[in-house]
Amino acid sequence: MSQTDTAAPLDPRAVLKSVFGFPSFRPQQEDVIDHVTGGGDALVLFPTGKGKSLCFQIPAIARPGVGIVVSPLVALMHDQVATLRQAGVKAAALNAGVAFDDARAIRDDARAGRLDLLYVTPERLVTPQFLDFLSEVPIALIAIDEAHCVSQWGHDFRPEYAGLGILADRFPGVPRIALTATADRRTREDILRSLRLDDARVFSSSFDRPNISYTIVERDEPKRQLLGFLSRHKGNSGIVYCLSRKSVEATAEWLNGKGVRALPYHAGLDRAIRDANQDAFLKEENLCLVATVAFGMGIDKPDVRFVAHLDIPSSIEAYYQETGRAGRDGLPSEAWMTFGMSDVVQRRRMIEEGQAPEAVKRIERGKLEALIAVCETCDCRRQAILRHFGEEHPGNCMNCDTCLNPVAQWDGTEAAQKLLSAIARTGQRFGGGHVIDVLRGQRTDKVAQFRHDEIKTFGVGADLDARAWGSVLRQLVSAGAIGVDHEAYGALTLLEPARAILKGEETVTLRKAAPAAPRRRGQRSGPPDTVDASSPDAALFQALRACRTALARDQGVPPYIVFGDATLWGMVAAKPRTVDEMAAVSGVGAEKLRRYGAAFLEVVRDWVRDNG
Ligand code: ADP
Ligand code: ZN
Repeated sequence: MSQTDTAAPLDPRAVLKSVFGFPSFRPQQEDVIDHVTGGGDALVLFPTGKGKSLCFQIPAIARPGVGIVVSPLVALMHDQVATLRQAGVKAAALNAGVAFDDARAIRDDARAGRLDLLYVTPERLVTPQFLDFLSEVPIALIAIDEAHCVSQWGHDFRPEYAGLGILADRFPGVPRIALTATADRRTREDILRSLRLDDARVFSSSFDRPNISYTIVERDEPKRQLLGFLSRHKGNSGIVYCLSRKSVEATAEWLNGKGVRALPYHAGLDRAIRDANQDAFLKEENLCLVATVAFGMGIDKPDVRFVAHLDIPSSIEAYYQETGRAGRDGLPSEAWMTFGMSDVVQRRRMIEEGQAPEAVKRIERGKLEALIAVCETCDCRRQAILRHFGEEHPGNCMNCDTCLNPVAQWDGTEAAQKLLSAIARTGQRFGGGHVIDVLRGQRTDKVAQFRHDEIKTFGVGADLDARAWGSVLRQLVSAGAIGVDHEAYGALTLLEPARAILKGEETVTLRKAAPAAPRRRGQRSGPPDTVDASSPDAALFQALRACRTALARDQGVPPYIVFGDATLWGMVAAKPRTVDEMAAVSGVGAEKLRRYGAAFLEVVRDWVRDNG
């Protein structure tokens, strides 16, 4: 495939079709690819799943010489190299795991221009030996993937990335392209400065992930709620995030007991077990990985159909990143989270008890408050999330829970006053359960013991049930009017904003507590909206999937490397009978057609015979 030194670049559109089997570019992909193929530098800021890889892979193939790709994680490299080789692209990786003889052969191929793409870790790239070696290689371009790693501001800072600016001096005239899914202004400036991309064109797009639906439910019985959610995902793979290692293990065990195949993943597990569980997640379908946030970085699995959170993360940034691991392939996917007062209390305590200086704590508090606001919003969640990243979305996305099931609001000023005054009159010494008993006029032993049936607020809240009061309490804690004192066993205390509410200077608008079993329009994930799970088309998809699994297992690669779900659904729609018809399906390139075309045509033929 690679071009000799003197040849003109190939047409990117021809490469897209013949190598990757895609009929057209995604919006903005084409601009980047034309610019870089033509020799320009670029900074690409696209969200996950938008198709950044092709932005450097196609120019690398189209231009004469070898594309050098800097990638921070060996796992990511392996995945990309394996995917490219399946498509017949000459790709290789150099990292500490490559045997000496293999590495020498790869270097020889690179010098001779026999490779299309060579992946390398940043720490290796910046060594004098490697730079000398590169000076003997005909280089098509240099791509710096996950470029936000140059920035100390972000979460994945890698000191070796900071040294990559040297490439500007060593290889003038070689186009360089940096890519990241992190878009904030500081990271972007750091990348441009540190990598010395002075003349780079910046390509950025919306960070919306339209194929991900967002749902945040009030926590009530989290396990039962999770099981209900997972029942919508039979046959799918996804991630369940928990805050602690203990709850990871307990949740995984419980799910297995309920017939849902689940494996745990957290930093405290034995390395070998962790790796095996991660590998199973990549290679199997219908597997639930229950994990702490230790899991996810460097996972490129495109068919993660759901990401569930049993506890809220620390910020909208973390939420966006973790949920963003769903639906990389563009098919409908779900982000689902349970949210309760304990989250707010626990996260606030983590901040207060942490060692960070006060200035940092203030930032952390602000980030947490912003996420709580997304959880509590009565408006479109997508709009609230994107607004946090400085992007105006019109709202009404019809793919989040608040759009699909609009939340009822009510004037909760009087209820809030009753609750606050019950807390005050019981001396700010009791937890939520007792205060609600007092409000509802319950004659419990504790009420009798403290003679709380004699105070003025006893029974004034009998009009609401305990669940509704729990919701009022949670919202006032979220809003910062009520504090929870851990030193005193969760005693509720009044905070500054409570005063204005009690005086009637401020009104309080509350969400109505959701009904016990939240109703949700049956939006299934995965297949295109038009396919019914029990239809013959769904059966064809399953048959194609079984074929893919067998082919992948023979080669020891994840199934998505053979064909992605989107391509299998493309076969379902087209029901190809001939090689030409198969070649026309999106995602079926020339090499994959040669390798797998016959096997999948046979599956379609059998299905047509049985259903024809
Ligand atoms: P990113 O790196 O931006 O997260 P990827 O490069 O992994 O995204 O691409 C996401 C998915 O989109 C992959 O499954 C890829 O094959 C697919 N894809 C990318 N470009 C196109 C295209 N032009 N047509 C169809 N599918 C595409
Ligand atoms: Zn919405």
